[in-house]
Amino acid sequence: LAASRIEENKVKELNQLSVSYNKMLERLSDAFEIQRQFTANAAHELRTPLSLMQVQLDLYNSTRHPDNDADTLQTIKMVTEQNGRLSKMVKTLLDMSELQTVGRDDEIMVDALVDEVLADLDPLAQEKNIKLTGKCKNITMVGSDILIYRLVYNLVENAIKYNHSGGQVTVTAYRKEKHVYLSVEDTGNGIPEELRERVFEPFFRVDKSRSRELGGVGLGLALVREIVRVHDGSIAVRSNPSGGTVFDVILPL
Ligand code: ADP
Repeated sequence: LAASRIEENKVKELNQLSVSYNKMLERLSDAFEIQRQFTANAAHELRTPLSLMQVQLDLYNSTRHPDNDADTLQTIKMVTEQNGRLSKMVKTLLDMSELQTVGRDDEIMVDALVDEVLADLDPLAQEKNIKLTGKCKNITMVGSDILIYRLVYNLVENAIKYNHSGGQVTVTAYRKEKHVYLSVEDTGNGIPEELRERVFEPFFRVDKSRSRELGGVGLGLALVREIVRVHDGSIAVRSNPSGGTVFDVILPL
């Protein structure tokens, strides 16, 4: 009898624990939702004044007087660039806040998607005389094609941006059991080992001035990590044995 009472008490305790655990999860998920909403609202609000500023700047550029002095033109150019950076940042923040609501049931042909990214980024690669190679097996996975495109695009764009002139970028993808293994490999400077995990943090940049020069805002990899997360995958970064960086992504089929 005593033993069964102990058992009963244990079950009660476990039930209570599970109720408070569920409540805690609910509160956490509410807090995330509030944060997501806040980011989405702030980004929406910021978009309008930024577009209006861009319209004014374009107008000024198209109607500018031939004898505007060089300083004024230089200032306009700088403001236009900064406005572009802010708009890009706001767009990425908006994309991040909307990730949860994007449908993830598209059938994606991974090799075709990688080929599309490589073709779209070819002009950027040519500017730096970088060779892009795709070595992908014929794999189909289920997910959001817009988001997976963005994931591969951001990784390949970085692999080009942080590469040397004459360098190489190779994308490989293969299937192993129930997963897709996708890697983006470059021959750039690489990332110091102690900073590798931090590159996924929003706004983190190894070399701020270099990233700014290349038009970066420090959100590309944060978005990549979120895309991987909503697809229940994983991402890791390591150094390329022949110099440079490799990003390894594993996604469920
Ligand atoms: P950014 O807009 O600055 O490119 P990201 O979030 O895409 O922002 O990347 C964060 C930082 O990680 C970059 O500023 C850069 O310092 C570093 N990084 C990303 N990809 C690479 C790469 N392939 N090789 C070297 N450094 C990289």
